[in-house]
Amino acid sequence: MRHGIDPATIGVGAKRDAGVDRRTCRPGRDSDHSGRVGPQHTREDDKAMKDGKPASQQQTSIPAPAPTATPLRYRVTPVDPDAHQFEVELEVAEPDPHGQRVTMPAWTPGSYLIREFARHVVSIDARTASGRRIPLTKIDKATWQAPACAGPLQIRYRVHAHDLSVRGAHLDAEHGFFNGSSLLMQAVGHDSRACELLLKPPVPRAGSGGRAGREPTRATAGEAAARTAGRMAGKTLGKAAAKDSDTHSSSGGPAGWRVATTMPRAGAPEYGFGLYRARDYAELIDHPVEMGEFTLASFDVGGARHEIALTGRHDADTRRLCRDLRRLCAAHIRLFEPRRARAPFERYLFQVFVVGDGYGGLEHRSSTSLICARRELPWKGEPKEPSEDYRSFLGLASHEYFHAWNVKRIRPAAFIPYDLQNEDYTRLLWIFEGFTSYYDDLMLVRSGVIGVDAYLQVLARTISGVQRAPGHEVQSVAESSFDAWIKFYRQDENSPNALASYYAKGSLVALALDLEIRTRTDGRRSLDDVMRLMWQRYGRKALTGGADGGLGEDGFPSLLAEATGLRLDRQIRAWAYGTDRLPLSALLRRVGVRFASGAGDQGPTTLGVRLAERHGQLTITTAYNGQAAERAGLSAGDVLIAADGLRVDEKTLKALLARRRPGERLRVHGFRRDELIEREVVLQAPLPTETKLSVHEKAGTAARALRRDWLGR
Ligand SMILES: [Zn+2]
Repeated sequence: MRHGIDPATIGVGAKRDAGVDRRTCRPGRDSDHSGRVGPQHTREDDKAMKDGKPASQQQTSIPAPAPTATPLRYRVTPVDPDAHQFEVELEVAEPDPHGQRVTMPAWTPGSYLIREFARHVVSIDARTASGRRIPLTKIDKATWQAPACAGPLQIRYRVHAHDLSVRGAHLDAEHGFFNGSSLLMQAVGHDSRACELLLKPPVPRAGSGGRAGREPTRATAGEAAARTAGRMAGKTLGKAAAKDSDTHSSSGGPAGWRVATTMPRAGAPEYGFGLYRARDYAELIDHPVEMGEFTLASFDVGGARHEIALTGRHDADTRRLCRDLRRLCAAHIRLFEPRRARAPFERYLFQVFVVGDGYGGLEHRSSTSLICARRELPWKGEPKEPSEDYRSFLGLASHEYFHAWNVKRIRPAAFIPYDLQNEDYTRLLWIFEGFTSYYDDLMLVRSGVIGVDAYLQVLARTISGVQRAPGHEVQSVAESSFDAWIKFYRQDENSPNALASYYAKGSLVALALDLEIRTRTDGRRSLDDVMRLMWQRYGRKALTGGADGGLGEDGFPSLLAEATGLRLDRQIRAWAYGTDRLPLSALLRRVGVRFASGAGDQGPTTLGVRLAERHGQLTITTAYNGQAAERAGLSAGDVLIAADGLRVDEKTLKALLARRRPGERLRVHGFRRDELIEREVVLQAPLPTETKLSVHEKAGTAARALRRDWLGR
């Protein structure tokens, strides 16, 4: 997953804190006001197929399940878009003879926070096959128990879907989206059973001009499904139409709705409502579903069709988007499969929800859900070197695509299987998120989508972000991984002081390991070899369904040694399990990159705080431990109103600090709660946390060769 904002600022008034919640899979882009920035977080039965082809041959290489057990049958109806309600029916053919339990996952893979999706369940009831209603007893916050009964058992419930994020479910008259774990309950004891999913279209409300209707009866919903399926089949994009830059337009409303998901079809027309299937529950919830009107574009690479479905208003140049993503995806595929150059799936989907301001992504086995700001998509005038906004989108797409290998197939043993009711602990997110964060931007330059200078600029920003956040000297990325559930995903005003980002710092650990391996083997080995070994050992087997091996908690050092011939146990201990400074300056120099550290444009003095304008008030969001403001008795939450007798806002305070020298005193007035306070701050020089990287043109031949191998140019 990739986050849109610096997680160290969540809940503390970060600039990008408003609007759509982007706390999903990759960190990013936050700027500081007068001091530091925290860690940079800146990222498918047993029914015959109507068209005669098994679903497994259509869309995924995962073998079809054995046709013996009756599948679980799910039916999802966007029953009331204006009230944001999905209705779900789950039929368990062979319920537990002691009484069937159904439960809603507490979290979603890729986003390590207990979210308790059961809280969105509005109503639920159960019936036997004859239609007799039977009582359900709620036995914990997410689980309902039915009495012992003969099958099939039918559970019907409604879910409030108004979470516009990549993790949840969202439904309105414009579109519908759900990530399976937030909508589809588990039938306890039946996780390995095949699942059928019948997706039903919303019913246009009479006289509503095509907008979705309320409370369709089963019959009308079924008829509508058949009508829509027929209509969709009629307007299914043919092979040619589905090629690059097919721009779909329709009259609006559900009549034009299509479905975008990589869940294997089991009778549903292409892009249509109807029947889909999954080999088990884990797969069912790993194909998010978008329904609505979307722009569809596609390209082929690595033996797989790649599609982009853009929902929401946009003016994107889809040809450019396809061109760049194609190059990028080709580079990822070559990294893991240099000889075969084959993707581990036959179809991949980028679901993109375009909004005014938002950022985030969540990885899945053959798709990703992304939220991006409109301005981040390329337009007709996009320069050859992508704008910072577009580069950010490309980095997000790259991050989630890399996850199709790293975490979706190469998995920590701790995630096999996922415990969806409780925290699933691992100390290895610095590998699964950190390495992914390292490769996401690196693959942009290797694929030629961005230039070397642009890459070094992005890398320098990551380094600066980590240097600014003192939490990286307090917590290791292994600890941060383990505590993701209570710390990284639940940040507060003290997070920059106490938290390490397994994304940003994890990506720098990957960089340090990569450069260490390259320089010590004279370029014969690299972190790429480590990734490939992990892929061969754990990832490829995940496809056959025959092996469940994952990376053990202590398995990485020996795996690295096997892949490279080097024992880097000491470095891994110090860098990932300790808080030692990474020797990036020296390592980068060896590959012909200059490293310069300074105060950047921070000005001559600082208070040692992060500030934000909240409700028009200049508020301290973090007081860095041991720095000027904290030493003077100021703290997070204090509102600054005056300095040396003059009213201050963000701009005037900055101007004032620019005219002072370190060691000078500044009398500050402010409010703590509603009480006026006065403090005297001894101004300090800003810390040299800002990094600049550049190509060292006069580096030796060996260094230049290493740099070329590393960056691919
Ligand atoms: Zn991620």
